[in-house]
Amino acid sequence: MHASDELARLSSLRNLRLLDTLPSESFDRITRLVASYFNLPIAAVSLTDVDRQWFKSKVGVEHDGIPRYKAPCAEVAETGRMLVIPDFEKDDHYADSTLGNAGIRFYAGAPLLTPDGHGLGALCVLGAEPRTITDDEMATLTDLAAMVMDQIELQHAVGRIDASSGLPNRFQLLNDLSDLQKNHGEQRIISLLDLAQTAQFDRLSRVMGPSYLDGLIRTVARILKAHVGDQSTPYHVGPTQFAFFAPETADPDTYSELLAKTLRDIEKHGDFHMSMTPSIGVMSFDPAEMLPEDVLRSLQSAVQDARDSDTGVGSFSFATDMRHRRNFRLLQDFPIALDADDQLFLVFQPRMDLATGEVEIAEALLRWNHPVLGPISPAEFIPIVEASTYARALSAWVIEEALRHITAWEALGLKFKLSINLSALNLEEHDFFERMMEKLKEHCVDPDRIELELTETAMMKETDRALDLLQRLTATGIRLAIDDFGTGYSSLAYMQKLPASVVKIDRSFIADMANGNRERVLVRSMINLSHSLGYRVVAEGVESAEASDLLQAMGCDEIQGFWLSRPMRGDALLDWLAHQMPRKLEVA
Ligand code: C2E
Ligand code: MG
Ligand code: MG
Repeated sequence: MHASDELARLSSLRNLRLLDTLPSESFDRITRLVASYFNLPIAAVSLTDVDRQWFKSKVGVEHDGIPRYKAPCAEVAETGRMLVIPDFEKDDHYADSTLGNAGIRFYAGAPLLTPDGHGLGALCVLGAEPRTITDDEMATLTDLAAMVMDQIELQHAVGRIDASSGLPNRFQLLNDLSDLQKNHGEQRIISLLDLAQTAQFDRLSRVMGPSYLDGLIRTVARILKAHVGDQSTPYHVGPTQFAFFAPETADPDTYSELLAKTLRDIEKHGDFHMSMTPSIGVMSFDPAEMLPEDVLRSLQSAVQDARDSDTGVGSFSFATDMRHRRNFRLLQDFPIALDADDQLFLVFQPRMDLATGEVEIAEALLRWNHPVLGPISPAEFIPIVEASTYARALSAWVIEEALRHITAWEALGLKFKLSINLSALNLEEHDFFERMMEKLKEHCVDPDRIELELTETAMMKETDRALDLLQRLTATGIRLAIDDFGTGYSSLAYMQKLPASVVKIDRSFIADMANGNRERVLVRSMINLSHSLGYRVVAEGVESAEASDLLQAMGCDEIQGFWLSRPMRGDALLDWLAHQMPRKLEVA
């Protein structure tokens, strides 16, 4: 037997996941039948592993297997043909085998053949006396061996078919992907359809009942079957997920369009509920170069990206995958950073009053120095953390640190204010107000020393409860600023309802002023509009003296930006103030 044939044989044996499994009555029944039909004491379903014959089922033997060397069943598996040894003592090859030495005289074994012709082992019967075998007996043993194979195939299929859709499941896909690994240099396209996020699906299942979802699954299965064609089949890999290979005829360049069309078909015929967001992740890969588990993981990542795309179809890219992994790592490490005392710190960026030249407030900005990855920009880690359960802990940490600084400065004779960035999630915390008040009291800081920054988008999302919270906060004297003004979707009518007193014009508008007159007119209009609605206006990202002069001429109230100062540590801020505004620190 060729080494490669033996490898293929072993691989199909492994795929069936039969070795070392528990005894099963459905096999034992056949084994007992064989023993009694031949009127012999010993029978077994015996599988040929690398170096042993392992008995899936047995009658009349104690042990679970024998060595493969000189085992007749191994010969049956290798040749795929029936073997009869009428008398071991007269057989040159088997006389001194394990069985021969154990007093066995007769052996008959029929091969257990897979549909693609691999011999897994044998259904065998053994006796302590020499014996012959009739043609009828041979035919019966062969039939019974075929029944064993049916049983094997059936048991295998049961664990590989999804009951709700009748489609092969994730195990079958992993199995097929590992079969494909043999084909080197072949490029395949595989996609993953996700009907809804798990939470959406669970909610829907509760509201609409399971039969609605079963119907939906059947429709989707039908459309996907038509999509993949006769040569292939979709896989039902998770409650809401289907994987499928591209049809052989698919043109890789235009395949995404075909997918988008299939997705539209699914949405149209699937009686989709509003809250479901079906999307498809697609990837082209060389099966020989990727582990089956990695194929599935990459598809999961592509399907997440697909949710954010216009068509609902997203391709896997290694760059995004790297980003996902990095995001995951950052999220994992963030709670550690919260506890460590040398990873997170605040820097402060001062703001200057253009009318008086005074600096009495700075923005507190969070920094993370990761022990391995180095400094991580807040623009990178804050959105990740804010989408997680650590959002609350992040803000609590920043508030605590900011207040600690205010108190420490006060002790040095510096009366200073800080503005603190909040996220939309903070507005949903039921006890935010109480905790804020408690913290102010604990640090003996007056509320009017604090400004809270929220982006317009964050405020827009808000409910009556959030509005109520903002009103209670500002009633204490805390000021509210609209951050990154101009980048979100606020409506003026809505803004008017907010108890904000400061508008911070986003730095992109300030940077654009250098481009020309139109851009300058835009900034001037934003300032005028904000003023007429009663806001104080801060320009963010002022990087040059020209911009500062221009803003002053436009009537802007305050500036913040690199031109004045980069964000800096607390002690550096003190030095900076001492240098810039000696008067402020005279008392110190
Ligand atoms: P932001 O609130 O709009 O903060 C201003 C950002 O602009 C800061 O970036 C600041 O360093 C940067 N910046 C200031 N002046 C200039 C300038 O003249 N030119 C340019 N190009 N950039 C300037 P940073 O520190 O990287 O923070 C990015 C964002 O991360 C912040 O934007 C804010 O949304 C968020 N963030 C920072 N700290 C916190 C925090 O403690 N809590 C929350 N929720 N968000 C935070
Ligand atoms: Mg800010
Ligand atoms: Mg900003």
